[in-house]
Amino acid sequence: MDGQSLPIVKLDASGHPVHPRKPPVDPATLVHREFLDGPFWQRIPAYKSVDEATFLDHRWQAKKSITQPKKLIEAVQDLVSEEFLADARAGFARAPMSVRVSPYLLSLVDWQNPYDDPIRRQFLPVRSHMLADHPKLDLDSLHEQADAPTEGLTHRYPDKVLFLALDTCPVYCRFCTRSYAVGINTEEVEKVSLKANRMRWDQAFAYIESRPEIEDVVISGGDVYQLRAEHLTDIGHRLLDIKHVRRMRFATKGPAVMPQKLLTDDAWVRALVEVVERGRRMCKEVVVHTHFTHPNEITAISKRAMDRLFQFGVIVRNQSVLQRGVNDSVAVMKHFIKKLSYMNVQPYYVYMHDLVKGAEDMRTTLAVALDLEKQIRGVTAGFNTPTFVVDAPGGGGKRDVHSFEHYNRETGVSVYRSPNVDPDAFYLYFDPIDQLPESGRARWADKAQHDGILEEAIAAARDGQR
Ligand SMILES: *Cc1c(COP(=O)(O)O)cnc(C)c1O
Ligand code: SF4
Repeated sequence: MDGQSLPIVKLDASGHPVHPRKPPVDPATLVHREFLDGPFWQRIPAYKSVDEATFLDHRWQAKKSITQPKKLIEAVQDLVSEEFLADARAGFARAPMSVRVSPYLLSLVDWQNPYDDPIRRQFLPVRSHMLADHPKLDLDSLHEQADAPTEGLTHRYPDKVLFLALDTCPVYCRFCTRSYAVGINTEEVEKVSLKANRMRWDQAFAYIESRPEIEDVVISGGDVYQLRAEHLTDIGHRLLDIKHVRRMRFATKGPAVMPQKLLTDDAWVRALVEVVERGRRMCKEVVVHTHFTHPNEITAISKRAMDRLFQFGVIVRNQSVLQRGVNDSVAVMKHFIKKLSYMNVQPYYVYMHDLVKGAEDMRTTLAVALDLEKQIRGVTAGFNTPTFVVDAPGGGGKRDVHSFEHYNRETGVSVYRSPNVDPDAFYLYFDPIDQLPESGRARWADKAQHDGILEEAIAAARDGQR
């Protein structure tokens, strides 16, 4: 080796090495370590005199959740303009999803600028932002019902199943993939019912028991936050007792939208921790999968809640959805994954937004995801770097966004294969039409071209044209 190319270590005045290629960052830029603290909720007129003990009470959070425009107006009062309220009222009336927002989230919205606010965008529809649904959208776009051997159990992959224990949630998200089942009927959608029901559950457990290849069970909903503590225990024990079940995940958006429960619902937390510990003694993994979406949802309350689970030995991973105007910028996504990692929540997946009724304004193009992934990877530990996936409509399951066979940026059609689900099938994802170039929008505007657009994409994929 030529001695001249050896790195030269310089020392500063106090004898510490200075690495000229890696100058220290300005500590002021480490914003992911700052967690909003203090009585921030008192900015909202309705919560002006709510003390900390009340705000931390999960029952108060649930009771005070906003489900109607009237309640929203009562809560925010003169913080917002008449125009915004009229727009929200019209949005509520047109939304396929039920609306339910916790006081916690409501108090984190910047009401000076509600249109651009990332939390408002996820939970409160406004009429003026709504776009026409994509023509290729159908209500159960992931074919969860088609792949269901028993009601509420989806068996798509060889060794794992998705069990929908119930159909309610602590909040309702505008972008919910399960809007075919979750929430109460709306003017737009009559829902499939998946109630917390032992008979239905027993059928699912019997199926899992009958299939020795199943090692992995996702328990979702709705949201397991809504399960009573004793139901959590029953489901947990029943599944752990199936010999071939090795891994379980409880899926809940709760920590992101109502962290209070983890601090004040001791019966529920105890039930969760008991199942996790019982699993550990049996050498089986039981974890929590949650669903944070934006750094603004993460406060000192979230940090305390996540610290509590961590100290109890509960692993928490995060699956978020890529959303336009919410987390589709490099700066937000970097801040977000660093903040999650800082409180020991492992960023696991970022999903492309599914084709969901009434949420077209939330979707981004695949091109956005491809670029974001490139910019994000390397910013922190690999195990805290999410995989960007697309859950291809038609039941192909999750695919790495980069693994497309073909992607036409003009028509916004991408084509995937999924050898472990169906080796012969092609699965298509569709970019939102309003984000396409003029020529692509024109083609979708002509209904007669739709079949051709799809056939052309599949032919290109067969030909190996990326
Ligand atoms: C997401 C999902 C799973 C779990 O998949 P992972 O990639 O292991 O997180 C299992 N079954 C269905 C139907 C799913 O949608
Ligand atoms: S919490 Fe999950 S299941 Fe419930 S509405 Fe939101 S996205 Fe849908």
